[in-house]
Amino acid sequence: MKDYTISRRRMVEEQVIDRGVTDPRVLDAMLKVPRHKFVEEALAGKSYQDAPLPIGEKQTISQPYMVATMSEALMLDGSETVLEVGTGSGYQAAVLALLADRVFSLERIPSLARRARKVLDSNGFSKVNIRLADGTVGWQDMAPFDGIIVTAGAPKVPQEYLNQLSVGGRLIIPVGDRESQVLMRITRVGETEYKEEKMLGCRFVPLIGNQGWKQEN
Ligand code: SAM
Repeated sequence: MKDYTISRRRMVEEQVIDRGVTDPRVLDAMLKVPRHKFVEEALAGKSYQDAPLPIGEKQTISQPYMVATMSEALMLDGSETVLEVGTGSGYQAAVLALLADRVFSLERIPSLARRARKVLDSNGFSKVNIRLADGTVGWQDMAPFDGIIVTAGAPKVPQEYLNQLSVGGRLIIPVGDRESQVLMRITRVGETEYKEEKMLGCRFVPLIGNQGWKQEN
């Protein structure tokens, strides 16, 4: 079995630290999570490259830098309850498992949710809770969340995400059109008050569902 430790260290140094991510807990988590296990075996050799990769069902595992940036933007200290929308491969959820206390993740495609469950369990990330559902309405039963991270591009910010944030909590979400978005951080600064920050341009697959885009045939 190939040892990817050196590839992983180079990924963190060249793609993450060199581009300005500094949170030591995020860097440490990305050094620990075996990214190559979250893609098909045939793509394992490419899994530490500076790019998203296909994971089937026309979906992708996000670029390492994007995972690092979004994780850092949540500003976690390890005590939080976090919701991810878009489990995909399970890689971002595994990184979150090392950064937060409780992790909930929603995926709408059954085969991806099943595969992510398996990979997470076999790599020591059983604490991640996955649910097969339309994540555009959040996960009311588990709310409030100290962090919500949406890993698919939304046409607008679903109201339920704002409602399900705790006061002080942060929502990280790409918002824009189907092809390109702006990554936003929205902080709930009071019961009815939110602060919005634009972070950077990005390209995610669409968030599809009740409060997202319509499925295209
Ligand atoms: N976080 C993932 C990872 O680490 O591999 C990458 C996610 S991929 C870029 C986006 C994912 O969002 C896809 O798996 C897609 O099926 C999922 N998705 C899109 N709309 C969704 C929705 N309404 N609810 C839940 N998941 C959704």
